[in-house]
Amino acid sequence: MALKYTCEKECGETHARLGRVQTAHGEIETPVFMPVGTQAVVKALTATEVRALGAQIILGNTYHLAVRPGIETVRALGGMHAMYGWNQSILTDSGGFQVLSLAQLRKITEEGVKFRSHVDGSLLDLTPEYAIEIQEGIGSDIMMCLDHLPSTTAPRAEVEDAMSRTTRWAMRCLNARTDPKKAVFAIIQGGTELDLRTRHINELCQHDFDGFAVGGLSVGESIPAMYDTLEHTAPQMPADKPRYLMGVGRPVDLLEGVARGIDMFDCVMPTRNARKGGLFVDRGRRKMNIRNAAFKHDRRPIDETCDCTTCQGYSRGYLRHLLYANEILAHRLLSIHNLRVYVRLMEEIRQALREGRFKAFYDEWKSGFTDPKNTQTRDPSRWTKSS
Ligand SMILES: [Zn+2]
Repeated sequence: MALKYTCEKECGETHARLGRVQTAHGEIETPVFMPVGTQAVVKALTATEVRALGAQIILGNTYHLAVRPGIETVRALGGMHAMYGWNQSILTDSGGFQVLSLAQLRKITEEGVKFRSHVDGSLLDLTPEYAIEIQEGIGSDIMMCLDHLPSTTAPRAEVEDAMSRTTRWAMRCLNARTDPKKAVFAIIQGGTELDLRTRHINELCQHDFDGFAVGGLSVGESIPAMYDTLEHTAPQMPADKPRYLMGVGRPVDLLEGVARGIDMFDCVMPTRNARKGGLFVDRGRRKMNIRNAAFKHDRRPIDETCDCTTCQGYSRGYLRHLLYANEILAHRLLSIHNLRVYVRLMEEIRQALREGRFKAFYDEWKSGFTDPKNTQTRDPSRWTKSS
């Protein structure tokens, strides 16, 4: 079997659940945050550093690795585990999202997506079968099906059309798998139209995918619309398979996602923000920018309550200096801090679930959170089983 999910404990007051995912590269405790390693590297960090901050699984990016260095090279170098020196699990996306956001001259047909590489302009043909072939070459433990993501402004008929194509492509992906040790996850689309989400779950869940992902969120819709869609979608997804929310989000979104029944998350936000000086502090509840002049002579760590190696050894003033001086070490140290905040939040969430106090943890965390986007949500005990 490619993957096994075991639910160990449910919250009872919310949809949150504690579990384990077993892949060919070991066990992952869920809920989990997965750092993004786009080019077969979590930017600026070694695999040893990523492991040390508590990450259990990382992401690789099919589109980026297919256009550079190319799948033949990835294969020749032994796949992403060997390249990066990472011996735990790897999840790869299908490349579909980057084709839409980066590639030029893309054309979607029933066969797949034709596009020009943003690196050298070469013409590539991403079919469902090729998406799986690339992911197998990367050595991924969890492969994502190629999906058709409609634009957020697409009319309903277009969303429905993209949804049916996503189902047909998902079946082709499942059939294209040659290595039974690699898991295949299907992606649920349907925009923010709740009945379409239900329909797509029912369509996809008839088939033997190893897990399911919620796609098409955090792509421009409002935060309340995202939470409402999640609240509707996640609890309907099969309880005996992992549930993955793709590309989301801020620490608060992870907590809200867990409360709605999500097990796996990824996002470039902690590393991308870090490289610009945007840091999460107070367990992810507040943000600060290390570039601020107020920190110039500040000898305190970024966050006195943080246990990361950056906060143990470096002052705000020094980190600010490194960033302004454009020193590589700034990117490394700030990425370590932000990733640790995300990973530690998930550790705290799992601990709370284990001890049967997730709802109290949620309330306490939210009580210290001021949402700059003013998107406070309803009490999660309102949307338990019966909702
Ligand atoms: Zn820190």
